[in-house]
Amino acid sequence: MQHQAPQEIVIIGGGTAGWMAANLLAHQWRSHGTQIMLIESSDIGIIGVGEGSTPYLRQFFHRLGIQESEWMPACNATYKCGIRFPGWSTQPGYEQYVHPFFNQEDLKVGSELFTNARLRRRGTAAQANPQDFFIAAELARQRKAPFYLPRSDDRPAPATDYAYHFDSGLLGAFLKGHASKLGVRHRLDTVARVELSETGDIAHLLMHSGAIVKAELFLDCSGFKGLLINEALGEPFVSFKDNLFNDRAIAIPSSLNEEEDIPSETTSTALRNGWVWQIPLSSRYGNGYVYASDFASPEKAETELRQHLGAAAHNKEARHLKMRVGRVEQHWRNNCLAIGLSQGFIEPLEATALMLIQFSVDLFIDQMEASQFSRSRQAQFNRRINQMFEGVRDYVVGHYQLNTRHDSDYWRANRAHRHISDRLASILEVWDQGGDFEAELTRHGEALMYIRPSWYCLLAGMGRFPADLKPLSTEQRAELMSGEQARAALTDTVTQFYGHRQYLQLLK
Ligand SMILES: Cc1cc2nc3c(=O)[nH]c(=O)nc-3n(C[C@H](O)[C@H](O)[C@H](O)COP(=O)(O)OP(=O)(O)OC[C@H]3O[C@@H](n4cnc5c(N)ncnc54)[C@H](O)[C@@H]3O)c2cc1C
Repeated sequence: MQHQAPQEIVIIGGGTAGWMAANLLAHQWRSHGTQIMLIESSDIGIIGVGEGSTPYLRQFFHRLGIQESEWMPACNATYKCGIRFPGWSTQPGYEQYVHPFFNQEDLKVGSELFTNARLRRRGTAAQANPQDFFIAAELARQRKAPFYLPRSDDRPAPATDYAYHFDSGLLGAFLKGHASKLGVRHRLDTVARVELSETGDIAHLLMHSGAIVKAELFLDCSGFKGLLINEALGEPFVSFKDNLFNDRAIAIPSSLNEEEDIPSETTSTALRNGWVWQIPLSSRYGNGYVYASDFASPEKAETELRQHLGAAAHNKEARHLKMRVGRVEQHWRNNCLAIGLSQGFIEPLEATALMLIQFSVDLFIDQMEASQFSRSRQAQFNRRINQMFEGVRDYVVGHYQLNTRHDSDYWRANRAHRHISDRLASILEVWDQGGDFEAELTRHGEALMYIRPSWYCLLAGMGRFPADLKPLSTEQRAELMSGEQARAALTDTVTQFYGHRQYLQLLK
């Protein structure tokens, strides 16, 4: 049994995964004498996309003691209040909806959505589009930052939750600079061969330069190819192809309108064969079409994306990417920990990849420390990470199952297949049957990666309600909050927030 933190760690890969892991490990274990070297190939580029986060990324910077004013301007970063989903549903009144991040203020107005949605599920025409009921949705609609203007009294401003958009190349460069301050060494070289020991551990790496690299622990951050975890150790990859069809993406940047405020939300618009992200940075928009090669060729998809973007995409180069969607079974195997695209990827609809990277490294550190730096918690670690991947997958698959588009085979096939987990099937059934939805969510415990309001936003937002609804009674009309009333209340609150561009200027 090992009783001290690994003294030599080698990370293969200088994408976001490699640099995030390097920072977290160096921050945690440098006082234990751990030496970290990150090696990346100058011949093999990084994926270079991945520009939206979840709120969990706030904890990453907080843990490292990095202020927003340090990293955000350096990465052309902006605030993200949630994700808007136009075109996924054809139900009247639900043609678009928002999945916002939740705030203390939502305890008042937001909880009215739960009441209205329950009534509507059970056949009464209460209004239940989440975009009317959550403060972050209104902040985004008005292009505000998630921060209150200074108050005239001394009352502390209520907390608001949010995430970020950023330029992934610049974020990588920033994290590299910070890692070097923490003592992480950086080398450019390419792994040519991986030698295993008799126990199945990685003994050493033979590099193109001729160098031999040894370490106690190797991190595989080599991207989709899974150089160490799949190719060298033979860990199988579990594909999610049967319920997440998308395996390609095309990225095209476009210009921001300098005259307008910067949006504070991601927009994920459904097109005929997939969906398009639009991510506002402080310098440009990142756009990308995520689609399935079984339903559209790269040429057809690029034409569709260019039509969608219009003049904004003229003369802008398109990057075509392949995606490997699924996960490995053992993310930590022998003396190798796979982090990032090498461990798995769920398509970017909910921008969860960096969150899973962070969870994986955080949990790895916890499990190592809790087991006196042994491998005794390896199985437990792998089970929990798999549970997280499956939890995110269920929520993402839910979007496709619930779509109501009829304009292509792609959307019909996404709705018709029954390759969904028992958990997702049960959640949908309880919702559809007007059952006790709260109890159903509680029953799944921590296996659900998304909390109650997120499930309401997805199901109500898609307009998943009975077709025949009876009108509200006079009493109900008086008691319930309509969408207009909710939005009016929020509009008032939102006047107390900074404009998005205005707040970003303050960070500089
Ligand atoms: C279309 C798309 C959209 C995405 N959107 C989001 C999003 O909005 N939000 C989000 O959180 N995530 C998103 N992601 C995921 C995100 O981009 C990745 O999780 C993140 O960039 C981490 O990638 P990585 O570091 O694992 O791999 P990569 O960036 O591919 O880096 C791989 C590294 O390995 C090195 N390497 C490979 N082979 C060798 C070798 N033989 N020797 C030495 N070095 C080697 C390369 O040089 C490179 O440095 C998206 C992904 C895709 C495909």
